[in-house]
Amino acid sequence: MEAKVDQNVCIGCTLCATVCPEVFEMNAENKAEANSELTEAFMDRVNEAKDGCPVSAIFVEE
Ligand code: SF4
Repeated sequence: MEAKVDQNVCIGCTLCATVCPEVFEMNAENKAEANSELTEAFMDRVNEAKDGCPVSAIFVEE
């Protein structure tokens, strides 16, 4: 599984990086980036971040 953030959509609210800092990080442009590897242990919080993202910029791919 892999989490992705659409850089063109992210508004840099930092919610995802707060909810799950193990997976999401803010970059120099103040956009969130996701780690390439996503383990099952983080899925609940990744989904929480995905559902909470105000602009629906987070995607999870199998
Ligand atoms: S929650 Fe959405 S808008 Fe906010 S930083 Fe994360 S990806 Fe960007």
